[in-house]
Amino acid sequence: MIKARHFILRVGPEQAALLKEFQEEAARCWNDIVIHARDHYAATRTWVSKGDLQKRLKGGYRLHSQTIQALTDKFVSNRQTAANLRRQGVNVRYPWREKKFLTIPFKQMAIRTGEKGTLVLSLAAGVSFDTGFVPPASINTCEILWRRGRYILSWASDYPEAKPLAGIRAGADIGEIHPVAVCDEQGSGLVVSGREVRSIKRLRNKSLAWFSNALSRCKKGSRRWRKLIAAKGRMKSTSDSRVRDLLHKATRKAIDFCVTNNISELVIGNPAGVEKDTKKKRRLSRKSRQKVSQMEFGTIKRYLRYKAHEAGIASCLTDEEGTSSDCPACGCKNHPTGRTYLCGQCGFTAHRDGKAGFMMLRKRHFDIALPDGFVFSHVQSIPKYRKRVLPACVDGPDVAPSSLAIA
Ligand SMILES: [Zn+2]
Repeated sequence: MIKARHFILRVGPEQAALLKEFQEEAARCWNDIVIHARDHYAATRTWVSKGDLQKRLKGGYRLHSQTIQALTDKFVSNRQTAANLRRQGVNVRYPWREKKFLTIPFKQMAIRTGEKGTLVLSLAAGVSFDTGFVPPASINTCEILWRRGRYILSWASDYPEAKPLAGIRAGADIGEIHPVAVCDEQGSGLVVSGREVRSIKRLRNKSLAWFSNALSRCKKGSRRWRKLIAAKGRMKSTSDSRVRDLLHKATRKAIDFCVTNNISELVIGNPAGVEKDTKKKRRLSRKSRQKVSQMEFGTIKRYLRYKAHEAGIASCLTDEEGTSSDCPACGCKNHPTGRTYLCGQCGFTAHRDGKAGFMMLRKRHFDIALPDGFVFSHVQSIPKYRKRVLPACVDGPDVAPSSLAIA
């Protein structure tokens, strides 16, 4: 399997200026591709071929020849993606935007190892850039990106896969409060809490409302307006990366649990479409609709699947209809309120999302018997630099009463 990873580049002012120059040059090349493709279509009503594009661009830019090739490859694949989406009725435009800066892509020929084992990239004929990064594996392709005020090297390499294991089966439920809840066929499971994610999103929504109010009070294009737009962008990218980090940590915890519990097959509930058209369906309140439609089910699913694949766990998706309401003991429907599921008919009770994980497994394997009891451990996905170690409200056996006293 091919895996992409990141490395933050530490560059001095001279190197930064160099990289900026090449980002601009890459953007110039991209803009020419877009214009040429558009003109070609206007004149002939056909798509310009990749070969034609490459022939036309060859030698016209201060970039590595394979970087120009990589840009045309990118254009061709973006064009194809847009066409596929348009065929499905999604209204997207073909590449059209004029870029000022662009990510610089590097292919195999432009990548070499320097004297000290560091990665050296060839930007153009006679211009190379020592990244100062010692790659742990041989690199297939890489890119230099600009993210949140830093240059980042994104590199892709072959990643060793674990051998498929022989073990037990488990199901996973993807949700809003608990991003992942795993339950195996013997009834033990893990529920990962994502309340932190919820809180970040709430803050983000509040801040966005504040920004749109403040922006509505100033003249478009003014100095204050420009400052606010920049601050809004910073706030958005900070909250995005915090959420991304937490979701990676949550899915990592779930997969680590699977590995230690010898799980070889993971059935993941596919919450396709729950987050869409929430207004039309009118199933939820306004506030819940916002929460549900901002939940990144697709992202969690993707993270879970690739992490499972890496660990040698087979994963598959299943339709999740009825998994949160059906009782595993008697089969009747109950609508849970709160986080505990209680059956009105037979009195079966368990954690709501953990039970949903078990039901997911049963969707695929009907023969699995109900275990004697369910045991779920609860963990939180906690950011690395958290100011407070414990959550705001703490009670439980380990907490002395004094620590609960309000100061
Ligand atoms: Zn029941």
